[in-house]
Amino acid sequence: MPYRGRFAPSPTGPLHQGSLVAAVASYVDARRAGGAWLVRMEDVDEPRSVPGAADEILRTLEAFGLTWDGPVVYQSQRKELYRAALERLRTAGQVFPCGCTRKEIADSAITVAASGEKPYPGTCRNGLPEGRAARAWRVRVPDEAVRFTDRAMGPQEQNLLAEVGDFVLRRADGFFAYQLAVVVDDADQGITDVVRGEDLLASTPRQIYLQRRLGHPEPRYLHVPVVRNAAGEKLSKQTGAAPVDSTRPGPAIEEALRFLGLDPPEGLSHAELLKWAILRG
Ligand code: GLU
Repeated sequence: MPYRGRFAPSPTGPLHQGSLVAAVASYVDARRAGGAWLVRMEDVDEPRSVPGAADEILRTLEAFGLTWDGPVVYQSQRKELYRAALERLRTAGQVFPCGCTRKEIADSAITVAASGEKPYPGTCRNGLPEGRAARAWRVRVPDEAVRFTDRAMGPQEQNLLAEVGDFVLRRADGFFAYQLAVVVDDADQGITDVVRGEDLLASTPRQIYLQRRLGHPEPRYLHVPVVRNAAGEKLSKQTGAAPVDSTRPGPAIEEALRFLGLDPPEGLSHAELLKWAILRG
């Protein structure tokens, strides 16, 4: 199948060096393979989306010479697809309504040693307890490992029941969850290769599990290191990351390529740097 990659930013603010690294990594991988590179705005979490941020991200990608193929799709306009996928899972008995609050789950006795996360303890999986109203919809997960091989990080496995638990597909506030939207969209857009930050490695087994339940093909995955600040935190709007400077794309692209372990020649423009990265031996 011809390569189709994508960059899927959440429009919660301007692009920073960390999101630029993810964009450059997926763009260069796609173009090296002679493939298509799509941009999808992941504004499924509408309360977190910032007005104007999506346009600003697109202008920045243009300024950096990261040109995409086809129309940009917006998750906020694709709710019917997510609704239909949830309905298919519901008809097949794979999802259930859950009345638990975040606090109740955070207060549960079980903690995953490796991640410190609280898996969903299964409170509502066999029916809502008396007097509880449905809040979220969760998908039932089995007690078995989901395995995949990351192109950079090698074999991975996660037991969803033990490490995550039945996870949310539709949130208590009515919005669809990222995990469902990303799976529906990657399949609908025919994505063959997902290249993104390592912070999403732990989400991949959930996404592969949903692909299997929905009968979608499994893309190849390549997770690249995430950029951290001096305090060791992933660059993000929450950690106050500075926007990239669109008026000087060369240095930022060079920094992104070096961060990804490449060693481009000095003195190239942003366009020449990208071309070098695509054509390198
Ligand atoms: N929207 C996600 C983010 O900005 C990326 C999702 C993905 O690449 O699958 O972190």
